[in-house]
Amino acid sequence: MAGTPSDDEAIGARPGLADAIRQALRTLGLVTRERPALIAAVAGLSLVAALLPPAALYMSKLVIDGVVSAMQDGTEVSRNQALFWVVIESAILAALLAVRRFQVFAKAQLHAELGFVVSGLILERADRLSLRQIEDADIQQKLILAKQFAASRPYSLVNRIFDAAQHGLTLVSLLILLAVYAPWLVLLVVLGGLPVFIGNLRFSGDAYRFYTGRTPQMRERNYLESLVTNEASARERLHYGYGEAVRDRFGDLFRTLHGDDRSLQLRQASIGSGLSLAGSAVFLGGKLWIVAVTIAGAFTLGQMTMLVGLLKQGQAGVTNLLSAFTGGVEDVLYVTNLYALLDLPDAPEGRGLKSGPAPGEGLVFDGVSFTYPGSDRPALDDVSFSLPPGTRLGLVGANGSGKTTLVKLATGLYAPDAGEVRLDGLALQDWDRAALRHRIGVLFQPHVNYKLSLRDNVEAGSGFATVAGERLERAIEAGLAAELVTSLPGGLDTRLSKRFLDGIELSGGQWQRLAMARAHINDEADILIMDEPTAAMDPAAEADFMQRDLGGRSLVLISHRLANIRTADRIVMLDKGRVVECGAHEALIAEGGAYARLFATQAEPYRST
Ligand code: ADP
Repeated sequence: MAGTPSDDEAIGARPGLADAIRQALRTLGLVTRERPALIAAVAGLSLVAALLPPAALYMSKLVIDGVVSAMQDGTEVSRNQALFWVVIESAILAALLAVRRFQVFAKAQLHAELGFVVSGLILERADRLSLRQIEDADIQQKLILAKQFAASRPYSLVNRIFDAAQHGLTLVSLLILLAVYAPWLVLLVVLGGLPVFIGNLRFSGDAYRFYTGRTPQMRERNYLESLVTNEASARERLHYGYGEAVRDRFGDLFRTLHGDDRSLQLRQASIGSGLSLAGSAVFLGGKLWIVAVTIAGAFTLGQMTMLVGLLKQGQAGVTNLLSAFTGGVEDVLYVTNLYALLDLPDAPEGRGLKSGPAPGEGLVFDGVSFTYPGSDRPALDDVSFSLPPGTRLGLVGANGSGKTTLVKLATGLYAPDAGEVRLDGLALQDWDRAALRHRIGVLFQPHVNYKLSLRDNVEAGSGFATVAGERLERAIEAGLAAELVTSLPGGLDTRLSKRFLDGIELSGGQWQRLAMARAHINDEADILIMDEPTAAMDPAAEADFMQRDLGGRSLVLISHRLANIRTADRIVMLDKGRVVECGAHEALIAEGGAYARLFATQAEPYRST
């Protein structure tokens, strides 16, 4: 796949009816499996709520006919009969009210529970995505949409399934009653509902395409908003004074989005009202016929009242049923996106081995090439070098030369397109991930500054597992962060980030020390990969780090400051993804190539002072 996919591609095309039914049933199956009692309660309440309205209508007929006959014959029995039907009708209506209240309660529970279940599934899926997958623009789009609607759309779909079943059952009962007295009115009820249905169906696809197609603009809107409200950009915003310009862009974007919104809504309102009027005209015809025929003596008063009620409720029934369907179509489109995400194939499982056949070999890059998806230029091109146990390797190169990409491959987060990265003679992809994690400590660039406790910032390196005090101390020591810990009021438990009550903000260099401590949390790690570990540190800390005994570990050190890596056993220089020079400092200087020139440039200012 090349470049950023269009929104339609990312979201998926409109599903066919069979697909829609499959997605709806899958969602229903999901919630039934996760919360069976709740679904049983909602189903039971929907069934009762479906049958009570036609029963009440039939009772109203019995009441009116009972009243008319009691007025005509004047007997006690007829009078009591009419009053009896009044009590039964009232009881049915009261029961209906109570059932509807419980329906609201049960559905609110379902909403909350289903939102939680779906969010859990999304998090679980996202957690299992490979780095390659999660960096993919199409998958990112799917994740954003899925997260945004996790709590609302799947519930809405399930809700509509029950609504459709309930309204459908009510409608069928009403139509049966109607058919007993005036069969042709059945046809009228169905025909009268069709215009609104057709309109809704057309608009539902429109709205979906409209709102999801705008995800990139919405993202930009949120981003512009964050530029003005976030503390991270505050310094630049205030100094450069771009707040007003950003607000203007925000306003322009809002006006464009809102303008589009308004024209869609206006179109919906005008076409929708025309279609509703057409539907109402059909029903008016039916009503006129019932009244005329009753006046002519064909129906009793009770029958007339019931038939008009049936027609009215039938009309509402058709609309409710059809809007459950059309709204459902929109939900299905969102849910389709959700399942496209949940059904993504797992990254291929390696062989899960915990050791390699050649333990003395260390880390080896053997003819490694790697191209990012969508890019036409390799980020790494035929890169070979080795890192035997206990050696230090310095990695240098200009921005974009492939150093960070190399770290992703050296940690097995990306698999090479060609060649092999091996540890102890075994390709990284065949290693058990946990075993690999224990062997390699990494300081990534950029590293994450966890807005959690200081302890969490270090223990993140062991998967947030609690680490024994001594080991934690050693890691903090290795990260040159011991002084930092003692200087903070809450020590290890200090909450980092001013966003939290009693939270404290750290400086760039302090955050970097914690990232370094994190990279050292695994005592067993025999390989350390450090991407610009001292870039934000003061010179004293940097010198401290460079002179440290690694205790037999091997080190890959990426640094722009060549003075830091001159003591490395071997220096690899990358240019546009290729290894252009490789050797010890003295040898490379003697060679007089690119490294020697870069070193001379960096040394120059010190010489002339
Ligand atoms: P360095 O760390 O040496 O500055 P990188 O390894 O980050 O270089 O980048 C090497 C090349 O790969 C650059 O051309 C960069 O634009 C490209 N690149 C880096 N990350 C990605 C990515 N996630 N997707 C696509 N291209 C990328």
